[in-house]
Order: sequence, then structure tokens, then C-alpha cells
Amino acid sequence: MARSGSGASPCDLDKEFAPQIAQLLAAPSLQSAQEYYEELIQSKKHDGIRVNYKGDHGKGVCANKDFAEGDLILKDQILVGAQHSLNKIDCVVCSYCFRFIGSVEFQIGHRLYFQSIASSIGCSSERHCHGSDVGSSTCSSGVTKEKSTTLPEEVIESLITGDVSLPFSDHFPLPEIIACQGCEEERYCSQSCADSDWESYHSLLCAGPNTEPPRRSALHKFVEHANETNDIFLVAAKAITFTMLRYKKLKRQNDFQNKSAESNFSLLMEAWKPLSMGFKKRWWDYVALPEDVDASDEDSFRQEIRDLAFTSLQLLKDAIFDAECAPLFSLEVYGHIIGMFELNNLDLVVASPVEDYFIHLDDLPDDKKEEAEKATAPLLDALDDDYAVPCDGTAFFPLQSCMNHSCCPNAKAFKRDEDNDGHAVIIALGPISKDEEITISYIDEELPYEERQAELADYGFTCTCSKCQEEKPN
Ligand SMILES: [Zn+2]
Ligand SMILES: [Zn+2]
Ligand SMILES: [Zn+2]
Repeated sequence: MARSGSGASPCDLDKEFAPQIAQLLAAPSLQSAQEYYEELIQSKKHDGIRVNYKGDHGKGVCANKDFAEGDLILKDQILVGAQHSLNKIDCVVCSYCFRFIGSVEFQIGHRLYFQSIASSIGCSSERHCHGSDVGSSTCSSGVTKEKSTTLPEEVIESLITGDVSLPFSDHFPLPEIIACQGCEEERYCSQSCADSDWESYHSLLCAGPNTEPPRRSALHKFVEHANETNDIFLVAAKAITFTMLRYKKLKRQNDFQNKSAESNFSLLMEAWKPLSMGFKKRWWDYVALPEDVDASDEDSFRQEIRDLAFTSLQLLKDAIFDAECAPLFSLEVYGHIIGMFELNNLDLVVASPVEDYFIHLDDLPDDKKEEAEKATAPLLDALDDDYAVPCDGTAFFPLQSCMNHSCCPNAKAFKRDEDNDGHAVIIALGPISKDEEITISYIDEELPYEERQAELADYGFTCTCSKCQEEKPN
């Protein structure tokens, strides 16, 4: 039966833990936020910037020194992020730092392998999938593409196993793959990334043979549902495990120091702090209505989204519920976490070394190029146009997310050649003086005024930057 409007929540925890949930979702105090950002900036040595509070306009990022055009302003490390599910077919990256791993041959072989499976079962998937495309399905239905050629199985296999090496691929070395020792499904560029992922998120989400069977099968169900509906739930789950694991760590330290004064809930609040800086609104209240949904169906659309999130949350609860962290498993909190990823415009993108590889071959002198192409032309044919799909995902970047929008920004997110992992990289577009606010554009700032404002409405504000003031019709 349909529930009406924003009526009663289907989630019992919403009621049972209402006071705790209200505390978790309350905006952090000015002092606590300032302390958090100062500490973050100090620990990461981002001495070029500071986070500023501007009364009712919220926060913004200011320059702490002068920058010249092209200067690096910030490399912001992901707080919580994940590669899109379907992008895993195209790119094999470290699950922690999102660097490409294996080898150029492995990346190509992996891609061709999945492509051949897809064509053998007669389906073609839309790979450039964005979890933010809301609704009942993660991806719009696939565009069927005829592949010009399919390579023999042995060729694909030898690329994956490393039995063949392609000409000049040694110019593009990638870190060796280290698999999670639990599930072997997550893969890393180094043991330190594997360890960090385990400590920060993965130990609660690992569904390998060492995990108790009921939990393992519950985890599989949760992941399957997310892959079939919206992979934003996978990032939300990482946000929850991130908080739970921080909580457990704080509790251990606390027990060790014999501090009895700290209640479990205040430790949970502390563990939650990095996320409390980021969320904005509940996903289903705020998300833009898709074009194919009529305005008169808005209520039932939002209802559907909420029910979808609730189904996902139930599956996650079956797998990893922990009574001490119960408020984290409320639909209210889940909705805010998802909203945080959906509404912060923070795409995770890492360029493919396969692209660099083929560009390199193309730039070779004719004789060398001809020789190399004997080996690579059939691969390029089989890979088709998408030979170098980047790693693509959703992530929350704690400092980039503090940067305000402008349609004439003085900085932009831009990956340089050396930026080969998931960090967000912010570069000055022109000279920026000390104390000036650093702005980026959340949208394509070349769009006409009306279209810009329409897109920015999704972020919940009307832009009044100098460009908008100039172009605003009277
Ligand atoms: Zn890594
Ligand atoms: Zn694992
Ligand atoms: Zn503007």
C-alpha cells in the first residue's frame, strides 16, 4: 500500500532513535567544524588554503597565499568513494586509491574478456553508467553496438595472464595486483592500500570464504540489489562501515585509556564527524525529478525512491547491523548519506593508461609505428571506440566539497599527467591572491544563463556570480 507524502517512515529505527538521529544530523557547531577543517588541512599539509565561514552563506575555501595560473592548489584525498559497478568491466583499479593496476595488457585483456562474454550472451551494456541517474535502475538500457571483430579466446587469455607483452607497454608500467585475502574480489595497487581499505571500510563488507555464511550471503544480496538498482548504495554502505570502524577504534582507545566518561554515543558522534560536515538533504526529498516523470507523479516518485533506499538498507542491516551503531542504520541517516553523494557533484575520474599507451604508439616515427601496429591493430579494432574508458565513480572529497560555485571560477578540478589516482586535483585558472575565495564551477559554465540556473537549481541555489549578474535578464 502506498504511503502518503512525507508521512510515517517505514523504518522502526527512525522512531526508536529519533533523539540520536537528530543529533547526528544536526549541523555541526561552528567551532567543531572549524576545528575539524583546521586539523584536516594541517594533517594533509594543505597550507595554501583555509576553510572560511561566512555567516548564513555557509562555508567556502580561501587562498592562504598567492597562486599563479596553473598552480596546484589542492590534492584532496577521498573520504569515501567507489568505482561505478559497470565501470569495473572497463577498468581494473585499486579499490582504495583508484590507480590502474596490473598492466596495459591486462587492462585490455580484461575489457575484451567481458566484451566477449557480453556478445556471446547477446547483450551489450551501457558502460558509462552514472549512479546519479536516480530511479529504479542504475543505468539506462544499453545501447546495442555491433563489435567489428572478436578476438580468439587464447589471445584474450594471454593478455590477461601476461604471456604476451605489447610493444612499448614497458613505458606504461602499472603496479602489480594485490587481491584482498578474504574475498579476492577487491584488488589493490599495494599492500598498504589493501590494509588501509580493510581498516577503513572493507573488513565489514568483505564477503569471502572466511566470512560467516549468513553474513556472506546477506552481503551478496545487498550488493546484487545495488547493482540492479543504483550503485550509490554501495558508496553509502562504505560511509556506514567507515563510521562503524572509526567508532570501534575510538572505543578501543577509550577502553585502553580507561576513560569512563565518554559514552558510546558520544564516541559514535566523534566517529561520524567527517561525514557530518558533508551531508545536506535527504536524497528522496531533494533529488531532481527526472524528465520522464510528470510533475503530478512527483509524490509517488519520491515515495518510490524512499522505498528503494529502505529495501537496500534492510539488506545492509541483515549483513552488518551492530546494536551499538543502531542509529546509523536508520532510514533518515541512510537517506542523508545518499543525498550527500548525490548532491555534492563529486565525480571520481582517473584517466586510463591504455589511452596514453595508444597515443604514444600513434606519435611514434612511421617505421616503429607500423611495426607496433602489427600487434595492436587487431586489439584496437576489437576494443572499438571505447578503447580507453576512464575509471569512473562517486566519491566524497572533504575539502573540494567546501568550494563554492561560480560561473566564472578561478580554479578547476583538473587531472595532470602525473595525477593517476583518485585524488581530486584543484588547479588555479588564473592568478589568485591571498585571502581571495577559491571557486570552481559545478556545471558547464559555458551554457547560457537560463540553462546554468536550471542546472544549479539541482544543487539548491540560484547563482549570483558576476557573470550571472551581468547576463541576468531584467
Ligand atoms: Zn592503491
Ligand atoms: Zn575482501
Ligand atoms: Zn553564476
